[in-house]
Amino acid sequence: MKVHEYQAKDLLKAAGVAVPAGIVATTPEEAGAAFDELGGGLIVVKAQVHAGGRGKGVAIDANADRDEALEIASGKKPRPEGMAKGVQLVQSRKAAVDAAASLLGKTLVTYQTGAEGSPINKVLVTVGHNIARELYLGLAVDRGEQSPVLMVSTEGGVEIETVAHETPEKIHRETVDVGLGLAGFQARKVCHVLGLKGETAKKGEIFFKNFVKLFIDLDASLAEINPLIVTEDGDVLALDCKLNFDDNALFRHKDIAPLLDPAEEDPAELRAGKSGLSYVSLDGNIACLVNGAGLAMSTMDLIKFHGGEPANFLDVGGGASKDQVLEGFRILLASPTVKAVLVNIFGGIMKCDIIASAILAAYDEIDFRVPLVVRLEGTNVEAGKKLIEESGRKIITATGLTDAAQKVVAAAKGAV
Ligand code: GDP
Ligand code: MG
Repeated sequence: MKVHEYQAKDLLKAAGVAVPAGIVATTPEEAGAAFDELGGGLIVVKAQVHAGGRGKGVAIDANADRDEALEIASGKKPRPEGMAKGVQLVQSRKAAVDAAASLLGKTLVTYQTGAEGSPINKVLVTVGHNIARELYLGLAVDRGEQSPVLMVSTEGGVEIETVAHETPEKIHRETVDVGLGLAGFQARKVCHVLGLKGETAKKGEIFFKNFVKLFIDLDASLAEINPLIVTEDGDVLALDCKLNFDDNALFRHKDIAPLLDPAEEDPAELRAGKSGLSYVSLDGNIACLVNGAGLAMSTMDLIKFHGGEPANFLDVGGGASKDQVLEGFRILLASPTVKAVLVNIFGGIMKCDIIASAILAAYDEIDFRVPLVVRLEGTNVEAGKKLIEESGRKIITATGLTDAAQKVVAAAKGAV
């Protein structure tokens, strides 16, 4: 689960990690009031969306040309005069109000959001700082090491992907022991690598240790501070922050789960989550309804292998009850790009004839506008297939995984 920059910064502040003072605004008037409350001077107005690249991003109206916006945000096309960026530095109350007005209610397109963009419902109005140095700090889980790994670089403020690709030696890594957190010697080493000295190094040590502690305590899965800045006064501050949390650990953090912003989530994924279905949208046109994550992955592989493109990953779990199949079908068919549906179910504890009745009942409740291919295997498979074949419904049955994949790929191409 991702959170917004302002929410991440609230968590950092509470954990003793230094961030610039800031106030969230949902209207231009609130942004003006925030400017006053923060004492004026240099202020930064920042669009709150779950994506990076906002500084170079483009805020557009809903009906504007999004593909062109993406080219501008990716630096492939020159930026026209007066086009609003996602992060704006202002020095007057009026400029703060105007900056907020240029963002709120618009769509922000960045190289990370893709042409679709993200809706801007909030801006963070924050105290601006004079930057002496821009550094990079990231924390991720290294599965090989079975530990969090802290990554730092003196190359902050730029796209870290480019640094990692072209000059990987410029990224320093420290493997963290989850039981101990970042050890003192590691924090000092990180400060040394980043060239932090004297009082700034002391502030850096506290910053890094508290940041790692927060990552472990809150079961974060990914954290990034880019840029981490050293101010002209020698302070170390998180100018930006991205935090992702492990969904499977959210039950332990009753204060984190409510930070979810539904406006940033895929509506189909939200809907599926409510019915206990694991669903991920993909770009293809063959929808899959499968029981069990492993089978769902293999099904997607087979569709690709036979020349098709899966439209989604959908795991209805071990049970595959009528209600789940029904809701699964509804979610799949709500997507206008879907050209065929493949049901691939292994009846283990749940018997195939019961699953077949569930599929038939669900089929009858929905206006099935595309071909449906069903492959059943497991307990009572013959009885299940017979039910479907004799039902008189326009359902294509398949025997085996290859047959199912070939039939659904052909169906999606209009060959059936
Ligand atoms: P991102 O583009 O989505 O990663 O958003 P950031 O929060 O990283 O902001 C983009 C850029 O805006 C930063 O890399 C800085 O160059 C600039 N910026 C943001 N806040 C300040 C500030 O307080 N002072 C100055 N001078 N620049 C800032
Ligand atoms: Mg950034």
